[in-house]
Amino acid sequence: MKRIPMSRRAALLALGGLLSLSAQAQDKNYPTHPLTLVVPFAAGGPTDVVARSLGASMSKTLGQPIVVENRTGAGGTLGPSFVSRAHPDGYTLLIHHNGMATAPALYKKLPYDPLKDFEYVGQVADVPMTLMGRKSLPPNDMPAFIAYARANGSKINLANAGPGAVSQLCGTLLQDALGTQFTEIPYAGTAPAMSALLGGQVDVLCDQTTQTLPQIKGGGVKLYGVTTLERIKALPDAPTLQESGLKGFEVMVWHGIYAPKGTPKAAIDRINEALRIALKDPAFATKMNELGAVIVPPAKQTPEGLHAWLQSETTKWGGMMKKAGIEPQ
Ligand code: ASP
Repeated sequence: MKRIPMSRRAALLALGGLLSLSAQAQDKNYPTHPLTLVVPFAAGGPTDVVARSLGASMSKTLGQPIVVENRTGAGGTLGPSFVSRAHPDGYTLLIHHNGMATAPALYKKLPYDPLKDFEYVGQVADVPMTLMGRKSLPPNDMPAFIAYARANGSKINLANAGPGAVSQLCGTLLQDALGTQFTEIPYAGTAPAMSALLGGQVDVLCDQTTQTLPQIKGGGVKLYGVTTLERIKALPDAPTLQESGLKGFEVMVWHGIYAPKGTPKAAIDRINEALRIALKDPAFATKMNELGAVIVPPAKQTPEGLHAWLQSETTKWGGMMKKAGIEPQ
């Protein structure tokens, strides 16, 4: 072993001490400038709505603004790819949904491992989805839609946010359950997909209530049903897809907050604290409640809770996709 001269060793030790002192000082004052929260879908969509409202609430605890950055594309995989490579200094975060669990089964060359390449902050809220048609689509309810879908197959345009998006997942399960194939039109998020549905350029969209409730209540679209096993409080008169004939049909969208692997534990603890306070903040909780979202219980609001949930969801959706014959591209 090469011996390091005494004077150099002392200098290295002193430098090490200084570095850890400055890291501690940084930890104590963290955060000292605005944070970025990456949303992997378009602005104005359901993930973006949760992100902006959550960011506003968390920033009250952190004492710094949280700036939302929409990094869209590839079914919501470009956002996590960016965050997995970002500097792990506690200033870059990601919000994502079930797409973190489904992407490994959909992409052969995913440039990140959702289960290993991140630090896990905690889960946020669960959000039901709604199946909707454009206002002028002939069927008025789910049984009529089922018959119409089987008769028209690929003539029906289904909008979604690409492979890895929950709108695509919901559409895949729907086509599978109906034994029919639609024509899929991918967008950078379901905000532009919803505009296309409202404009009558596409026929069908399945999307989270965090975007769809105002459009449904305003009568801009036709609602066929909700994707949960039980009816939801926000739309008590809307039947579930299961009660309309699609037995066992269920998609519930969950959200988690992530940071790049190697982000200091002190920063993760601080962000987690801000998250847990935000989930109790009436401004955030009321807004989520109005949009049909359900804040997750405290055990899920933790790094361990998110990682364990991601693990079980990866197994669940990976298995379901294999069973449905979906091969990674
Ligand atoms: N709802 C979208 C999805 O299908 C995402 C979004 O635009 O927020 O995953």
